[in-house]
Amino acid sequence: PLSQENSPILTCIKDIYKRYQPINEGNVATYIPELAKANPDFFGICITTPDGQIYQVGESQQSFTIQSISKPFVYGLALADHGVDKVMSKVGVEPTGEAFNSIVFDEDNNRPYNPMVNAGAIATTALIKGEGYEQRFDRILKMFEGFAGRSLTVDEGVFQSEKSTGHRNRAIAYLELNAGMLEGNLEEHLDLYFRQCSILVTAQDLAVMAATLANNGINPITQQQAVNPEEVRAILSVMASCGMYDFSGEWLYRIGLPAKSGVGGGIIAVLPGQFGIGTFSPLLDPRGNSVRGIKVCEELSQRFKFHLFDSH
Ligand code: GLU
Repeated sequence: PLSQENSPILTCIKDIYKRYQPINEGNVATYIPELAKANPDFFGICITTPDGQIYQVGESQQSFTIQSISKPFVYGLALADHGVDKVMSKVGVEPTGEAFNSIVFDEDNNRPYNPMVNAGAIATTALIKGEGYEQRFDRILKMFEGFAGRSLTVDEGVFQSEKSTGHRNRAIAYLELNAGMLEGNLEEHLDLYFRQCSILVTAQDLAVMAATLANNGINPITQQQAVNPEEVRAILSVMASCGMYDFSGEWLYRIGLPAKSGVGGGIIAVLPGQFGIGTFSPLLDPRGNSVRGIKVCEELSQRFKFHLFDSH
């Protein structure tokens, strides 16, 4: 691609990579053995633009599980399947200020607060259409492949561990079944949720997925429409208000980009019309956000004045 070597973006991310690589703060996720084995030194940064330029540094080709970064994308698919009114009757769009796995529902109608916390994500996944588990998961996977612009696979070990230890998520799903927020086969919905969290991606995939959101839903590599523009707006809105666990308010204040993190160590961030960022570093802060990933986005936002509320 055109003169990438001298591009200020590439120079900048190389510099940021060097600066933050030695920082070893945080811990890898330990709730399942597969994640506890993650290499804490891994660190990748990738930026993709709507015209398909890819700038990357470090371990941006290393695979890891997407985990909670799956949530906004599956929310988009649920909206495409049912429309806003139906989805809104099952999952709200208010931030909780609580941890991602907290068991809280809105008092008026027992609805999960938003699709970025587990309660809302499980209710969202339950809405995905299809005949049975295989077909429903196939639709989910194809949707992700449309965003990433390549075929993706599942980490079966992570999936089995999520499934065999995910009792808190199971409890959340039963409460939702009780409140009428979830219908149908609960174990099938949970398996789909655990499996969507276990899809393998790289920082480059995340950057392409983020750039697709920045590009009105058109994948900058394949030029295919991965998602409708109305869903893009909905996805970015919930990412902006709820995407970074109980750090979402401060993230918006400091960095000013819609974003989503996952306990696998990934973060995506989007500047609409401009670019998508994907970062990978498995060392997490106590809220579950990648420590190096936050630093990368904060520094990029400050250096280039990327904050949404800066006048561009
Ligand atoms: N599979 C994890 C869970 O549902 C996702 C956690 C996350 O990335 O926040 O607990």
